[in-house]
Amino acid sequence: MRIDEVAGHGKPIVSFEFFPPKTDAGFQSLFATIEELRPLQPSYVSVTYGAGGSTREKTVDLVVRIQRDIGIRAMAHLTCVGHTADQIGSVLDDLWAGGIRNVLALRGDPQVGQTTFTKTEGGFGYANELVGYVAGRHNFCIGVAGYPEGHPQCLNRSRDLEHLKQKVDAGANVIITQLFFDNADFYHFRDEARRMGIKVPIVAGIMPITNVAQIKRFVSMCGAKIPHPLLQKLESLEADPEAVYQYGIDYATQQCADLLKQGIDGLHYYTLNKSKATVDIVKRLRASGAV
Ligand SMILES: Cc1cc2nc3c(=O)[nH]c(=O)nc-3n(C[C@H](O)[C@H](O)[C@H](O)COP(=O)(O)OP(=O)(O)OC[C@H]3O[C@@H](n4cnc5c(N)ncnc54)[C@H](O)[C@@H]3O)c2cc1C
Repeated sequence: MRIDEVAGHGKPIVSFEFFPPKTDAGFQSLFATIEELRPLQPSYVSVTYGAGGSTREKTVDLVVRIQRDIGIRAMAHLTCVGHTADQIGSVLDDLWAGGIRNVLALRGDPQVGQTTFTKTEGGFGYANELVGYVAGRHNFCIGVAGYPEGHPQCLNRSRDLEHLKQKVDAGANVIITQLFFDNADFYHFRDEARRMGIKVPIVAGIMPITNVAQIKRFVSMCGAKIPHPLLQKLESLEADPEAVYQYGIDYATQQCADLLKQGIDGLHYYTLNKSKATVDIVKRLRASGAV
C-alpha cells in the first residue's frame, strides 16, 4: 500500500528507519528490533541505500522481506550515486516485482573520498531528475528529502526550498525531513513550503539522542545543528551514559509532543537499528495522550 494513502489525512503517521546490516548477526538483530517495534504499529518502515549503491541488493532484499514476511508496509531509499538510469531502472523493477510501492528518491552524498557529488554518465545530477524517472517507471508513491535547516550544500534556504518544490513538481508525494532539534526550524520550513504551494505531507525526521559523541558526528555529517543549551546539557552529562539516555529521551519526547500539538503530518524516527529509545518515546507520547 502507498504511504500517501495514510499520510496527510488528518492523523499523524509514525515510521521507523533502518539501515541494511553488514553481517548475518546484524540481520538477526535487526529482525529482533523490528519485532520489538511492531507493536507500535508503524504506518511504514524504510530502509536506507548505502553510499554508491553499496547496499543495492541488501536494501531491495530487506524491504521485500519486511513487507512480505513481517507484514509491515516498507519504503526503499534509492540514490543516484554511481548509477546510470538503466541501473536505477532495474532496481525499480526489482522493487516493483517484490511488491514494494514506496520509494524515497534521493541524490545521495558524494562517494567516499570525494567532497562534491559527481553525476554518473547516463545518470542523474539531482533528486528531481530521479523523481521524474521513478514516476515514469512504475506507479510508486515517491518520497523526497527536505531540510528544515537547509541542505548544507545550498547556501540559501529559499533556493533550497525552490529545489524541494522542483522535486514535488516532478512527482513527489511525500517529504521526509532531515533530523533537527529546534522545532522553530521545522515550523519555518513547513510554513515556507506551504507558502510556495507545496501541498504534500511533510513528515518530521526525529533522531533520539542516546550518545553524545555519536550525535556530534551525525550533525557534523548532515549539517544540522544542536542548539547551544542542549549541547551544554549533553556535555555536562557525558560521563554518565544513563543520564544522557534519559535526557535524550525526555528531549525527543517533548520535541515530538510539541510537533504533534502543531498538527504535524507524521514523525519518522531514525532508529539506527535499535528499538529501545524509539519504543520509550512513542510509549510516553501515547501514554500522555499526545498521539
Ligand atoms: C529522510 C532522509 C533519508 C536519507 N536517506 C539516505 C540514504 O538512504 N542513502 C544516502 O546515501 N543518503 C541518504 N540521505 C542523505 C541525502 O542523500 C543527502 O542529504 C544528499 O546530500 C542530498 O540528497 P537529496 O535527495 O536531498 O538531493 P537534492 O534534492 O538533489 O539536493 C542536493 C543539493 O543540490 C541542490 N539542488 C537540487 N536541485 C538543484 C538544481 N536543479 N540546481 C542546482 N542545485 C540543486 C539542493 O539545494 C541541495 O543543496 C537521506 C536524507 C534524508 C533527509
